[in-house]
Amino acid sequence: MGELSGKKGFIFDLDGVVCIGKTPIDGVRETLAHIREIGGKVRFLTNNAANSREHYVRKLGGMGIRCERSEVVTSSQGVAIYLKNRYRSGKCFVIGEEGFVGELRQKGFEVVEGKEGERADFVAVGIDSGFTYEKLTIALRAVKNGARFIAANPDVSRPGEEGLDPGAGAMVAALEAASGVKPEVVIGKPNPMLFEIAVKGMGLRRNQVAVVGDRIDTDIVGGNRFNLYTILVLTGITKRADLKGLKGEEKPKLVLNSVADLKGLL
Ligand SMILES: [Mg+2]
Repeated sequence: MGELSGKKGFIFDLDGVVCIGKTPIDGVRETLAHIREIGGKVRFLTNNAANSREHYVRKLGGMGIRCERSEVVTSSQGVAIYLKNRYRSGKCFVIGEEGFVGELRQKGFEVVEGKEGERADFVAVGIDSGFTYEKLTIALRAVKNGARFIAANPDVSRPGEEGLDPGAGAMVAALEAASGVKPEVVIGKPNPMLFEIAVKGMGLRRNQVAVVGDRIDTDIVGGNRFNLYTILVLTGITKRADLKGLKGEEKPKLVLNSVADLKGLL
């Protein structure tokens, strides 16, 4: 862990760090350009399982932030990698959106619906704006039939355009309540699994990598658990007043007002 100097890889959370909704944080482009100039590697990492990696390449591109598909890590990708490594193949019933289905298919999983869903090997749950009683019914029956229940991320709500929106965790909780079964694994932060994918993808060691996030309970706790150098920025959900009383793995190594301030430190 140690110092910031000498870090060769930087993992950025997206919302609240790189952008807020569709608006880039002031100075983020300059910081990213500087990291690339000095030969550093970057990864953009999100707990959101709804979208494909291509979606984020386009979204960031639209804000003038150049990035490659290989530089994006999402929890839907994390679920697909987890299932592939552990179970190789099988049928999935998905409570989730197109980006999630796409990641599973790319790893060779068959995505099934309706009655066939009740006999799936896996029920994968992420945020689903088309969540219905019918989907919950299929998922419930599948889990009762022995399907493995995998959750993309734990976030119960998230800021939306017009107020709070329910997150994947709310759909996970519905299935958990109905079935009496807890997910076998929750892939997203604070589970370090996505950080592991990012660090491996950069070909670096953990002590060469810093993570930049705006949430204590996911970015900072997850990063500390995985022994990364953790940087908290105050442009998102955490405010300076929230820093009092942080203990142990909740404590970031460094607090910055914004990702813009990182440039001057590298
Ligand atoms: Mg965030």
